[in-house]
Amino acid sequence: MHEVAEKIWKSESATPGQTIIISGGIHGNERTGIEVVLRIKQALEQEEFIHTSGTLFLLLGNLKAIELNERWSESGVDLNRCFGEISEAVYDSFEAQRAMLIKKVLALDTRHPGSVIGIDLHATNKPSKPFLVMQPHPTPLHSTLFSSIPSAQALLCDPHWVFTGVPATLDDYYNSNRNTGFCYETGCADDTSRVNEVFNEMRTLLKDRQVIAQSKTPDYVAKKYEHSLPTYALREAIILSDQGFAYESLMGLFTFQEFSKGALLGHHGGLPLIASFDGVFIFPKLAKHWKLGEPVGFLAEKIKE
Ligand SMILES: [Zn+2]
Repeated sequence: MHEVAEKIWKSESATPGQTIIISGGIHGNERTGIEVVLRIKQALEQEEFIHTSGTLFLLLGNLKAIELNERWSESGVDLNRCFGEISEAVYDSFEAQRAMLIKKVLALDTRHPGSVIGIDLHATNKPSKPFLVMQPHPTPLHSTLFSSIPSAQALLCDPHWVFTGVPATLDDYYNSNRNTGFCYETGCADDTSRVNEVFNEMRTLLKDRQVIAQSKTPDYVAKKYEHSLPTYALREAIILSDQGFAYESLMGLFTFQEFSKGALLGHHGGLPLIASFDGVFIFPKLAKHWKLGEPVGFLAEKIKE
């Protein structure tokens, strides 16, 4: 592994093949992804894993936020909104500059279209079961990759671009140029109890793609089964207006918390927010992360059992 830019590592095998990227710490307080990236790097350096084909990138995202153990740095800019068009207002921020550096180093547009798989490890700020996120629609390759991640319990899609409106996230960048990217939400941000399990899943995925072989440790045999994940689609963002917002008590407590059509979910100032469908909360944000004009959470609907 060579550090080709700060905390971006690259390994190139003599045998040509696909490019695989595993990233963590795009949000600095999401510790499991950070630990897993460092564990994979260590396994390669100690030759526990032998890199057998293609190109492998490992990277940590928001270095300043990782140091602070916060979602973002003092700038308040979300690194995971900097991978599309960057507005002038945030151009000089650490996050925008970091996103540009990551894109320059990975240079996905210079690689053979369809030859890249990118996995971005995240975690939620309120409790959640582990799940996968694919915007806008999963492909057959996504389904194959998901079978390496048996602990994921749901799939979230965003066919209507409710989440960011336009491509803006790192997994959107991974999905560009006919490539394949997704997010793995590993659980709650400060819970690192799943590091081993997520590391093993990433190892399985790398082995399944014939990117690594193992030397020192006995072969890890993963449970294999067809992954038929309950699938949800984002329908609405709850946007913070200048009237403020408050979740109704016992609402917006965790991701996948269910609500029924007609339920009172919260208030925009004096205006009640009533559910117009049976659904679940997704990414209800901690109040300290709320920004005027931006989502404080999302509502999704189950589209497949
Ligand atoms: Zn995140």
